[in-house]
Amino acid sequence: MKKRLILLASAFLVFTGAHNVKKNQYRFRVPILCYHNISDKVNGRFTITPEVFEKHMKYLFTHNYNVIPLEKLVKFLRYLKQKNKGKVFLPRNPIVITFDDNYPSIYKDALPILNKFKFKSVNFIYTKYMTKNNWKIYRKITKSSMALESHTLNHVNLTKKRNKEDIKAFYKRIYKEIRDSREILMKKLKKNIKYLAYPYGVFNGMVKRFARLAGYSAMFSALGGYVTEKTKLDEIPRFTVFNNFDMKMFKKIVSGNWYGGLKTYKRGKCDFEIRDYNFDF
Ligand SMILES: [Zn+2]
Repeated sequence: MKKRLILLASAFLVFTGAHNVKKNQYRFRVPILCYHNISDKVNGRFTITPEVFEKHMKYLFTHNYNVIPLEKLVKFLRYLKQKNKGKVFLPRNPIVITFDDNYPSIYKDALPILNKFKFKSVNFIYTKYMTKNNWKIYRKITKSSMALESHTLNHVNLTKKRNKEDIKAFYKRIYKEIRDSREILMKKLKKNIKYLAYPYGVFNGMVKRFARLAGYSAMFSALGGYVTEKTKLDEIPRFTVFNNFDMKMFKKIVSGNWYGGLKTYKRGKCDFEIRDYNFDF
């Protein structure tokens, strides 16, 4: 009951906060990039080569983009929504770099490139198949410039009920995916886990509610759109970077000039266009 009250209160704060933001006062469009596998063995559209990744990072570095920690962007959003938190400012041309899934290439190939440019990033990992050695590696990573956050236990579509699955069993299974992954990560990595990336970028009201109940403070989708003053903390969009993106597309996204998904995102629909370009199926 108490948790429910807190939920209601926070929903109210977000609602009133959004109204306090004057029209056009905070016009910003921050892209969050979402990468997956960074490897020479190109295997599907989620794999980009280390060369291309380095080219992306170099472009950001030489064109005065400010790669900021995800935490800073979330703090800024929270400041906009609840004006009692002290001022948070973003630098010019802010951008955030994230990775999804447990590809070893993320820390083996991408992390050294990121370090070269002193760029911070976040890797959303799921806890399935984790061995003792994996945990050892991930504990080491938490001490680097790459933060680790949750991508659930088994990387299932959180909105999909199994055939003949009882509705209560379904709720229980989904809540476990969301809550237990946070608890396991906190225990194994000895750090607070604050963020959840929805597997396949897919979510609904139930999933968002469970994520809040489980203690996450911000949740991330794969809807291709910019973070703006209207962005809700439980459905923060990100741009999945596919291997068929050329530099022209990359520049368009990072410069805030990609409108395809943003329009659809504002309409609040997941139509064909968004699915086609931005879900990590
Ligand atoms: Zn994933």
